[in-house]
Amino acid sequence: MTFTTAFAERTVATKALFERAKVTIPGGAGSTARLPRNGWKPYPLFMAEGQGSRLRDVDGNEYIDYLLGLGPMILGHRHPQVTQAVTDAVAELGTCFGLPYELEIEAAEKVVAAVPGIDQVRFTNSGSEAVGTAVRLARATTGRRLIVRFEGHYHGWQDTVYWSNHVDPELAGPIDHPRPVAMGGGVPAELQDTLVVLNWNDPESFIALMETRGHEVAAVLTEPAVFNTGCILPEPGYLELLREQTRKHGALLIFDEVITGFRFARGGAQEWFGVTADLVTYAKGIGGGFPVAAIGGTNEAMRLIADGTYSHSGTYNANVVQCAAVSATMDVLAEPGLYERQRALGNRLARGLEGIATAKGIDAYVEGIGTVFQLWFADRPIRNWRDAAAHAREDIFTRWYEEMIVRGVLFHPLQFENLFVSLVHTDEDIDATLNAAEDALSVVA
Ligand code: PLP
Repeated sequence: MTFTTAFAERTVATKALFERAKVTIPGGAGSTARLPRNGWKPYPLFMAEGQGSRLRDVDGNEYIDYLLGLGPMILGHRHPQVTQAVTDAVAELGTCFGLPYELEIEAAEKVVAAVPGIDQVRFTNSGSEAVGTAVRLARATTGRRLIVRFEGHYHGWQDTVYWSNHVDPELAGPIDHPRPVAMGGGVPAELQDTLVVLNWNDPESFIALMETRGHEVAAVLTEPAVFNTGCILPEPGYLELLREQTRKHGALLIFDEVITGFRFARGGAQEWFGVTADLVTYAKGIGGGFPVAAIGGTNEAMRLIADGTYSHSGTYNANVVQCAAVSATMDVLAEPGLYERQRALGNRLARGLEGIATAKGIDAYVEGIGTVFQLWFADRPIRNWRDAAAHAREDIFTRWYEEMIVRGVLFHPLQFENLFVSLVHTDEDIDATLNAAEDALSVVA
């Protein structure tokens, strides 16, 4: 049976809801990332409920979930402790005061204690908002306007950074001097002059840029490990180089930890790689699945927010749902041995998938850090976006996704995303996933 027939038979109720949704919701889903053109073919699944590491769709199909809501469900679905804390806080306090309150301090204290390198934190609603704040704050602090960013990284949808993510290499031009390319209509072309886009994991191009234009650079913005082009880890010494050069030239270093924060270590990439930034953004993971994001930084980097001369505002900033979720999530994440156990579990899955694929003669390898990784279908290592665009086999990835989803294993359908393992996935989940992969990869091979 073809995938199309098998999927259609399993998803009759989903299809009906998709048709209904398209009437009143543009495209039929609440985010463009959920549309068929972004991989969810022939239509996105409609979910009924999630519990722990599992999801159930409206047709009653159950899935082991490695999508994790695109990352935030770090504690699985409906974690009892976090759900209870949020429910209690709303019942006891309310939701939104437009003024400070004690639970907000508690949440901030726990985040600052968990993460190396930051002294202060402000809560906000989404990763895009947190990055937008960090970028503008860096410009205000340094009095400079140039932002350095890298091809293949994603930093949210704001105009200032919505550039050169999965850019067409033909449009961007030679890799030693790529042109910034807006990722969609409506982004003002004038902003091109406020950006320099570089090849990541490439020390020479970075040093050359800083030597010539370092005095103009307000901030270097990077994912400390790239999880928006599958997974690409930094080469040894690369993050240290970003740190050293930004310091030398009076620019700020911004780590966009929207994915890496709290995921494979409680202190995020700063703890894992032992390199600290001036400003750090968090979102997926910090609230155990509740909608909250944060910008953290050193006292020096947060100075203009602290003295009120930079206006970081927002009606819903630090509302009760957010702060209750963050506070409870930080407590859950403090369980001794939690990360070690789940990284080992994630590594077992990753190595198992890699082993099954290669045993079947498929060119594939895994890159990641325990609880987040990608199975690259490629015949060589992928070190940056240009490698990915030229050598990753999206066609094989799609076939593997199709064979897994009809076997009850859910992850993102695109090669340039990744698989998330929550802190509540179990050995049983991993065994069932590897069994499904054994079958699925036989068909793909
Ligand atoms: N930064 C990174 C690294 C991300 O992966 C994302 C979202 O995927 C964002 C920023 C934007 O976050 P949000 O979707 O919460 O606006």
